[in-house]
Amino acid sequence: MQAVKSLKTLALLSLLAAFQANADGPFYGDPPDANHPWGIHDPNRPQPARVEVSDTPGAPPSDAIVLFDGTEKGLANWESDRQHPDPEKFWILNDGTLQCVPGAGGIRSKQHFGDCQLHVEWTAPFPVKGSSQGRGNSGIFLMGMTEVQVLDNYNNPTYADGFAGSIYGVNPPMANSLRPPKQWNTYDIIFRRPVHKDGKEVDPGYMTVFINGVLVQDHTPLEGGGGHHGRSKSKVFPEQGPLKLQDHGNNVRYRNIWYRPLPPRAVEGGTNGYLSEEATMAKRAAIAAEIREDAVKLKGNAKMLRMMESLYYQKHQKTNDSVLTMVRAYANAAPKLAANKGDDAKGEIMQMHRAVQYLVRHGFWAEGFQPLAALEAVAIEKEWVKKK
Ligand code: MG
Repeated sequence: MQAVKSLKTLALLSLLAAFQANADGPFYGDPPDANHPWGIHDPNRPQPARVEVSDTPGAPPSDAIVLFDGTEKGLANWESDRQHPDPEKFWILNDGTLQCVPGAGGIRSKQHFGDCQLHVEWTAPFPVKGSSQGRGNSGIFLMGMTEVQVLDNYNNPTYADGFAGSIYGVNPPMANSLRPPKQWNTYDIIFRRPVHKDGKEVDPGYMTVFINGVLVQDHTPLEGGGGHHGRSKSKVFPEQGPLKLQDHGNNVRYRNIWYRPLPPRAVEGGTNGYLSEEATMAKRAAIAAEIREDAVKLKGNAKMLRMMESLYYQKHQKTNDSVLTMVRAYANAAPKLAANKGDDAKGEIMQMHRAVQYLVRHGFWAEGFQPLAALEAVAIEKEWVKKK
């Protein structure tokens, strides 16, 4: 007897769970608004892309594009940055590293790209020679436009905005976390290019840089990208550009260079973050259309609920009209359903109640919507909910 009773309790508890607010389902968190096409905890929001990572620190993850891997093939990803390159002079492969040949000029990746996460490792020449900007100088130019300084600043002061990890001529690094010469330094860079629209800068572009795991640039605005001697001004960047490595007269060596392209920001058509009203409404309409298409394949209550779900992205008139007809019919039939099936109808009716209540609570349907009152009356009569 006890066993039967607890089984019944279990069944009741699982029924309760079925229609209680469920963060994994629809009709739960706040709906989309004028600047966010998705609701809070929205089950229709796409899952993050899967990226496989290595156990080796710094190794390229599965979606990375490798620009230099220590091989001849890796070297072939690069070309001279000179207008009239000397065919006899190019950077060399030295023990699996890419070594600058002073006088050969800078090199650039044949691949062009824009916003990215970039990983680069470099080591300064040894024995140590020169001082300030003359010691182990090279540079990493994102899109060929803005330099993250490469310089042997281990026990080697220089002007701060030309330090290793500076955005050259713009902003010094927040710390000097370089390793001594003979050891390798790791730069991890997050680069966002400036965005201009209708002749106006709508995003200055930013760089975040870690040197050997230490944050040295924290979302630093590019202010035009920097440069030598002069103060840079906001300027239009191309859509894409090559990665350039500088020849500054020192045989700095590089290894393990890879990048991951980044998705567009909201300001350039991305759909995550705080969007303009126009972009939000366009995305909401697209999501609603997809859900309506999905609903066509469904039947019965599932179809009705899916159509209701589409309404909080876009109040599509035809869908709204047919859903209203379906909901009214359902609410009218609910007392009979409850009478016939008793507590077995509880999950289904309460699910419908929650969906209708959600749409009314968030203003998609008017206060005092009759079918909501009808479903509520059934729930109260059956003592599934307490009367308020
Ligand atoms: Mg440099």
